[in-house]
Amino acid sequence: MIPVRGVAGQKVLVLGLGRSGLTAARAIAAGGGIPLCWDDGATGRERAESEGFILHDPTAPGALDEVALLVTSPGIPHLYPSPHRAIATALRAGVPVDNDIGLFFRSCAADDWDTFDVMPKVVAVTGSNGKSTTSALIAHVLDSAGREVQLAGNIGRGVLDIDPPGDGGVVVLELSSYQTDLARALTPDIAIFTNLSPDHLDRHGGMGGYFAAKRRLFAEGGPDRAVIGVDEAEGLFLAGQLSEGPADSRVIRVSSGQKLAGPGWSVFARKGFLSEYRKGRQAASIDLRGIRGLPGAHNHQNACAAYAAVRALGLAPRAIEAGLNSFPGLPHRSQVIAETDGVTFVNDSKATNVDSAAQALQAFKGIRWICGGLEKDGGLDALHPHLDSVVKAYVIGREAEHFALGLGSNVEAEICGTMERAVERAMTEAKSGETVLLAPAAASFDQYDSFERRGEDFVAQVEARLRA
Ligand code: ADP
Repeated sequence: MIPVRGVAGQKVLVLGLGRSGLTAARAIAAGGGIPLCWDDGATGRERAESEGFILHDPTAPGALDEVALLVTSPGIPHLYPSPHRAIATALRAGVPVDNDIGLFFRSCAADDWDTFDVMPKVVAVTGSNGKSTTSALIAHVLDSAGREVQLAGNIGRGVLDIDPPGDGGVVVLELSSYQTDLARALTPDIAIFTNLSPDHLDRHGGMGGYFAAKRRLFAEGGPDRAVIGVDEAEGLFLAGQLSEGPADSRVIRVSSGQKLAGPGWSVFARKGFLSEYRKGRQAASIDLRGIRGLPGAHNHQNACAAYAAVRALGLAPRAIEAGLNSFPGLPHRSQVIAETDGVTFVNDSKATNVDSAAQALQAFKGIRWICGGLEKDGGLDALHPHLDSVVKAYVIGREAEHFALGLGSNVEAEICGTMERAVERAMTEAKSGETVLLAPAAASFDQYDSFERRGEDFVAQVEARLRA
């Protein structure tokens, strides 16, 4: 646990009592603060009460009078579509609003750091897609090289729940746009921007607000190194804004597909090979093609970002290569779950938006594609250029017919409705050399509690049929 600094004797209101909220309340108490807890849902309140925390309704008259700080959870809107009423009340009363990430950055450095030989480092990863994979990959490579590393944030443990980093320790944080938008302190040593495509636009008032939320990690934080995916206009803009000129190696530019051999520092993947360039010369090359845990150009982009971050932490290319090769991949992200009679089964349930599904469609050939669910804003047009590798779509979800219409006439689509039916039909029709791929391009909430449950259902249906 990281005790929160600067709150001793002060009342701090914790709004939202899920995993990060309850951890924040404990860390505030550990730092000598007085956490006052609230959640609009009874379950959260009961959990807090059972731990002995004081419940405090922030919307009662005068409730914020003695509150020094409000700490909120990522799931609670703080600005768009409209601020939660407790946050609006705090803002009107001039009470600062922060989150666990801000508390972490203000509390992470401890007095014993003065005695360390190597200062701990914090690496923070943001972007629309690939955050979890990149974060987990960085942690895996460091761990394989024998470095002390902890993974936290959206992935792994709550940020305040980790152990204080030891001598030379590294903390890898996966940060969503909700988290970077609000944190009052954001000071990673290395910050990574993977890529940008539309997502969560309702919470950010549009694409500009979404990019601005992610950009705070670089603008507010002033990291020593910024690893930036430059394949979209936003990443290119951010890299330009942060560097003093083309040779400035504070920015490490990353690409999947483009050769970046300028005078600065860059890492890119082309045709399955990762290259590192510094000062116009190639410094290292790694063959990524056979790495089972990192299939497809999108994962090669993640490999480049992770490579850049650990190079900036001083690891040698060969040590990084060994770590990349042994990465097992993450569940529900282009994860090969079975291979039988020449047919490969891949679970990419995390492809909850059009862009991530498009990446998965480019990573495999001869695809029997299970897709559909709760469609996100923006429609499916962005998928159209990537349907060549699809033999047939098997559409699930309550709005399956509407989803199938959105795929247009270039691909044969069968309305299956349920996962059970889709797996049965895809498995019946799949031929040797083909891939049965779950990459829904939609959220799961019309039929499942989460993308994890959806992926587990896919795996269970496939396994049941393989056993039968
Ligand atoms: P995040 O944590 O940002 O959601 P994940 O690593 O969990 O990222 O991957 C989310 C989805 O995006 C998965 O479907 C995955 O296959 C796909 N994906 C992973 N990396 C990338 C990338 N670099 N670009 C586009 N899509 C990606």
